[in-house]
Amino acid sequence: MIKSILNKSSFTHSDIVQLLEANKQDTKILFAHSSKIKEHYIGNKVYLRGLIEFSNICEKNCYYCGIRKSNKNTKRFNLNDEAILSAALFAYKNNYASLVLQSGEIQSNSFTSRIEKLLRKIHKLSQGTLGITLSCGEQNKNTYERWLKAGARRYLLRIETSNRTLYKKLHPNNNMHSFDKRIECLQSLKELGYQTGTGVMIGLPFQNTTDLANDLLFMKNFDIDMCGMGPYILHKDTPLYKYTSTLLPIQKRLELSLKMVAILRIIMKDINIAATTSLQAISSNAREHAVEIGANVIMPNITPDNYRDDYHLYQNKPKSININSQNTEHPKTTFFGNAEIGFGKYGDSPHFLKK
Ligand code: SAM
Ligand code: SF4
Repeated sequence: MIKSILNKSSFTHSDIVQLLEANKQDTKILFAHSSKIKEHYIGNKVYLRGLIEFSNICEKNCYYCGIRKSNKNTKRFNLNDEAILSAALFAYKNNYASLVLQSGEIQSNSFTSRIEKLLRKIHKLSQGTLGITLSCGEQNKNTYERWLKAGARRYLLRIETSNRTLYKKLHPNNNMHSFDKRIECLQSLKELGYQTGTGVMIGLPFQNTTDLANDLLFMKNFDIDMCGMGPYILHKDTPLYKYTSTLLPIQKRLELSLKMVAILRIIMKDINIAATTSLQAISSNAREHAVEIGANVIMPNITPDNYRDDYHLYQNKPKSININSQNTEHPKTTFFGNAEIGFGKYGDSPHFLKK
């Protein structure tokens, strides 16, 4: 059965559900297949994106997220420009070739200008060689355009779930948390010419394999260039915590996340897929596993150590690196698992480059 699905040139929704529900033995076949596809279309490579989580100040109140505005137990921080630029310099000097600037969501003129200026400064300090991804939430098209002109080339905005009804259960019911607005933002990013990335959380309360299959089809239909998706992980100071007893066991959420990566690699052969940090929160070598079966991007956290643990999205979030100490996540070898690290290479989405 599994082989006949894998031999098809495109999958139906029901094929994807069957793959997501595959037993252990079939899962091995699925992973061997996705691994070959990755090897063929991407090569045995993994590219670096130094992740700078520069501020946990957020105006929104997503029910799953530890740094949501109403969580009074979060110690708020906002790195100064100097700290951000020194992390960017670290990425540049260590040949990462790319970095990600991520933060809580703020929509204001001063936030827009600050990011714009930072982008220009990073461009300057790296002689224009660092590829910058932004992940600063929903903004208007004009803001996205200003950031693109200032040097950003990729943008990551997760749809979180493509099921509108489920989306409503995960967010407050107001204009600030609108499914339509999110789609509109993704559309703007694509129209402006960003390498556009999205993704979902896997194993959310009220979510089933039908939803997840739809998520993968959403990504395919939207024709995304990059994906960052990973398991949903609890945070005790969030409204979703009360549904803990309804969740799949954590190992199942991990398994499902790996299957999502494998299936996405099969249906979108040449996009960039990140092995996300939340995988690592479940198992220390889960990202290596994800890279083996389809992912081709990792995001070592290079946020300065005084702040790294306040960007507390969920429990067990791995400690980020101290760039000045031995306790660094900075790769010490040229391999990550079995994949060769593309030091000094942008590792742009081949899918995007072909457009
Ligand atoms: N504020 C921006 C946004 O929401 O797009 C960027 C930062 S936000 C913290 C980045 C991602 O973290 C979200 O898209 C969400 O999928 C993920 N996240 C938040 N809480 C999570 C949780 N409890 N488990 C897993 N991922 C989570
Ligand atoms: Fe803010 Fe992003 Fe967390 Fe939502 S997911 S509360 S927008 S940081």
